[in-house]
Amino acid sequence: MADIITRAQRSALMAKVRGRGNATTEEALVAILRAEGWSGWRRQQAVRGRDAKGRPFRVRPDFVFRARRLVVFVDGCFWHGCPRHGTQPQGNAAFWRTKFQRNRERDRRDTCNLRRAGWTVVRLWEHALRVKARPALLSKLRRVFA
Ligand SMILES: [Zn+2]
Repeated sequence: MADIITRAQRSALMAKVRGRGNATTEEALVAILRAEGWSGWRRQQAVRGRDAKGRPFRVRPDFVFRARRLVVFVDGCFWHGCPRHGTQPQGNAAFWRTKFQRNRERDRRDTCNLRRAGWTVVRLWEHALRVKARPALLSKLRRVFA
């Protein structure tokens, strides 16, 4: 299915992107990483490997810690269909259902491929980076980085 969207859909999208895009959540994670002294990461660097059938795959995680063989994804609640905050836009339900479903399938496939290739994969919901959720996030990350 081609990614053709109407003007109305595009403006709805852009509103979402501006409102709570990944940029600010990633910045929040950067601040946490710096504060905790977890260094050695690159942002959105390509990670390559082979899937279960030997086909090459290429993923661009939000954060790549090559020396630790660890990647972190920050999944936007809207785009990745968070069970708590993933809202479905009113118009064109089928379009959005397909779009979100494909995003989730890709997330699962990327996670699976990376784990098979020996990477530790951490997926964080955008909402986990909210200030109120920080203590829980920190204890999770401290276990990962310990
Ligand atoms: Zn959420």
